[in-house]
Amino acid sequence: MSSFSKTARNRVKRLSKRAAYDRAVIYPIVDEALICHVGFVQDGQPLVIPMIHARDGDTLYLHGAKASRLLKHGQSDQPLCITATLLDGIVFARSIFHHSMNYRSAVLFGCGRLVAAEPEKLRALEVLAEHIARGRWRDVRQPSRKELNATSVVAVSIESASAKVRSGPPLDDEEDYALPIWAGVLPLEQRALKAIDDPRLVEGVAVPEYAIHLFRLS
Ligand SMILES: Cc1cc2nc3c(=O)[nH]c(=O)nc-3n(C[C@H](O)[C@H](O)[C@H](O)COP(=O)(O)OP(=O)(O)OC[C@H]3O[C@@H](n4cnc5c(N)ncnc54)[C@H](O)[C@@H]3O)c2cc1C
Repeated sequence: MSSFSKTARNRVKRLSKRAAYDRAVIYPIVDEALICHVGFVQDGQPLVIPMIHARDGDTLYLHGAKASRLLKHGQSDQPLCITATLLDGIVFARSIFHHSMNYRSAVLFGCGRLVAAEPEKLRALEVLAEHIARGRWRDVRQPSRKELNATSVVAVSIESASAKVRSGPPLDDEEDYALPIWAGVLPLEQRALKAIDDPRLVEGVAVPEYAIHLFRLS
């Protein structure tokens, strides 16, 4: 099925014309975002923690230190809510009321499980590395057993999701279009600057292609 069902949990209520439930809209947002925010409730306390993520099909992987509270919580089959947000521009309207942002955002729901089997754990770490920079996994030293043991990987099964997307010019009240006030969009983008060599880099090692030309590689 290419779309998530609309339910009380994922149905966008405000400006629902901007909503999408298709994987074809939601997943490119998740894949383009470098980080996500993972929300969960522990002992009645809501927490939202920024994390690196990577998607493989309908699974979202998170990783970190074994001691991480989020990862401990995430492997206990408790509900998680994960958001990814891409900011595309500031929308300046003629009235302050109609100022807005152009954005693409996704909200995912699912429960997590600990990835215990080594083949899946390695696969998840590869997907996470490749999400940051495609080609990085094959360039680096692979994790040692000690490093693997110190790392927890949580797989979140994406059960439900929605996207919301705003694009285009401001939408002012008809009578305000005659006002002599600048209105329009200030586009924003995330871009990488020139790579900086580590001061202890072995002499002669060149910056890889993925750190020169491409920022987002999904
Ligand atoms: C862009 C980005 C990407 C990250 N990616 C990862 C990742 O892939 N894996 C990973 O394990 N960690 C990642 N982190 C760090 C992550 O946000 C947590 O800090 C980390 O998981 C430590 O969790 P903890 O269990 O020690 O703290 P917790 O027990 O989760 O938090 C304890 C308290 O510390 C404070 N706190 C925790 N984290 C932050 C924070 N980031 N900023 C401000 N206050 C905080 C909060 O008040 C929180 O209640 C990332 C952080 C950022 C900003």
